[in-house]
Amino acid sequence: MTVNLLNFDLEGLTTYCEQLGEKRFRAVQLFRWIHQRGARDFSAMTDLARSLREKLPAQARIEGLKMLSRQDSADGTIKWLFDVGDGNAIETVFIPEDDRGTLCISSQAGCAVGCRFCSTGHQGFSRNLTTGEIVLWQAEFFLRQHLKTSERVISNVVMMGMGEPLQNYHSLVPALRVMLDDHGYGLSRRRVTVSTSGVVPMMDRLAQDCPVALAVSLHAPNDALRDSLVPLNRKYPLSELLDACLRYLPAAPRDFITFEYCMLDGVNDQPQHARELLELLRGHAGRGVPCKINLIPFNPFPDSGLLCSPRPVVQQFARLLTESGLVTTVRKTRGDDIDAACGQLAGDVLDRTRAAERLAQRRVSSVHPIRFAAPAGDKQT
Ligand code: SAH
Ligand code: SF4
Repeated sequence: MTVNLLNFDLEGLTTYCEQLGEKRFRAVQLFRWIHQRGARDFSAMTDLARSLREKLPAQARIEGLKMLSRQDSADGTIKWLFDVGDGNAIETVFIPEDDRGTLCISSQAGCAVGCRFCSTGHQGFSRNLTTGEIVLWQAEFFLRQHLKTSERVISNVVMMGMGEPLQNYHSLVPALRVMLDDHGYGLSRRRVTVSTSGVVPMMDRLAQDCPVALAVSLHAPNDALRDSLVPLNRKYPLSELLDACLRYLPAAPRDFITFEYCMLDGVNDQPQHARELLELLRGHAGRGVPCKINLIPFNPFPDSGLLCSPRPVVQQFARLLTESGLVTTVRKTRGDDIDAACGQLAGDVLDRTRAAERLAQRRVSSVHPIRFAAPAGDKQT
């Protein structure tokens, strides 16, 4: 079996080339061919020593994911479904804006955290993606061809697709390094965001190994409510999570943490929740956590049993936070017509952990006052 070179960051590729008896600068050349020019054919790499060009095909390959489908939204958003084997599929979304091109990528096939409002969580967990399955290669070079440009198309990356990135740390960090490397995609650390449901020890490690912008999925202002929405909270409760945010900040490329808060009708969207959130974030550790809040209107999916907060409720919640000085934005929904919004990225997952089953049981036995959706036909906002 040949080695897929997409799985290496530059350091890994250098070690690999050294094992083949090649010098470090050859690894840089090879890396640039792959990640700056999208090459997959060794014979086209004209400045590589002929001996290396001839050696590589027998032992290495450059192989992206197999595309199962592509959907183009009227607003320019593109969603791909990629095959990752064994009946698993993952989704990737490209969101073009005037001044940037953002790619939303996945880190796992499924997710073991099992958040109640998340379609991925409902499907359970199959496996971690490899570094090569996480990196931008596929999307970037498809987009360059599609948009007929030789310029870089993707300027921002958000790890907000399927999976919990910090539960796939060993593949995540080399993938981030490829994105940031000047010989790779050369993205700024501020424009690469890891979103986490709060894997506290790995937040500390990320601060050391590869600090990028951090988004933390909060969704609740107290432990009782967060326990019921984000099960990981039972392991790493809010005070520990916020402490980890404070420890992350000195290494972070931005001087704030983004807190994501999914607006769920009647569950976490009331004025008292906003007040409690203010108190929590302002008062933590006696000095508060420098942050911005991003309210995400809940994107419904079949069997979630939840509804999105009505628009005036979202606006009132945002106003309460803003008036007290917390910078708060409401996430725009893009790619609505192709189900490309947060939490709707379903893919197709072979659940190996029975997480989906456990989640279903928890829903039945939970005593938490989640307000379940009205019968079908009730209008979503
Ligand atoms: N596992 C990571 C990153 C992937 S989820 C995390 O949880 O942060 C990316 C974001 O989408 C998270 O903030 C998550 O809470 C949010 N999300 C999940 N399901 C959603 C849904 N149905 N509607 C709106 N946002 C959702
Ligand atoms: Fe996993 Fe994030 Fe979905 Fe929670 S919200 S189940 S952590 S992907």
